Amino acid sequence: MSNAALVDLLREATRVVGFTGAGVSTESGIPDFRSPGGVWSRFDPLDFTFSRYVGSAEVRARSWEMRREFFATPFEPNPAHHAFAALEAAGRCRGVVTQNIDGLHQAAGSREVVELHGTATEVMCIGHAPAMGTPDGCGFRQTNAWALAQVDAGDPDPACPLCGGLVKSATVSFEQVLFPGVVERAYGLAATCDLMIAAGSSLQVYPAAGLPEVAVGHGARLVIVNDEETPLDDLATVVVRGNAGETLGPAVAEVLGNGRAARLG
Ligand SMILES: [Zn+2]
Repeated sequence: MSNAALVDLLREATRVVGFTGAGVSTESGIPDFRSPGGVWSRFDPLDFTFSRYVGSAEVRARSWEMRREFFATPFEPNPAHHAFAALEAAGRCRGVVTQNIDGLHQAAGSREVVELHGTATEVMCIGHAPAMGTPDGCGFRQTNAWALAQVDAGDPDPACPLCGGLVKSATVSFEQVLFPGVVERAYGLAATCDLMIAAGSSLQVYPAAGLPEVAVGHGARLVIVNDEETPLDDLATVVVRGNAGETLGPAVAEVLGNGRAARLG
């Protein structure tokens, strides 16, 4: 059964913006740093800081093995991803800002997606000796599958085919600065929505945690769906303690009608 207060807010909203965190990915079976077992029992994310990556071919080779293991299980979008995509297709959602790097919002059909921490589905040139956590590449980008194919062909540390620089997953690693313009795009969306739905984020890390504050400051209402308390719960019109997919899927299906509900619950 869908949450009645959430359904009421969705019915009144014409400019929804989603904000999603790790909880929305883990509902698709993607391990986060806190998940027991899986990829993070074999790889320590702290080994892959930006400076260690730049400084060590061995770290880069290990990083490609980590990416390979990360994508070894095929992940599918869950009803939370489909809910935002369905709202956007219906002209009622301006976009999604996400802390996740798995590309599942796009896989669900969302077109306007702001990836605060980049994407693991692509790789990019970061230049020959980038410093201060700042990529300094030539603009080369390819798929993650391209990089793994180079590794399979015998090169454990593939270089940029255009300039010979280092190639790295197009994610924001520890110590790495955020990509230019991304925070501005995210805050721009937050400032123009009439309903922000923050799902699966503990809302504790800035600048991400500032998005709901920007939205509410510009007159939007706020829904928080998360399995535990967040510091911004008092700011929200509706707080749902629980699973994002099980909460958003049925609510959006009810608002948009059964024709769009196929993958929402
Ligand atoms: Zn390059």
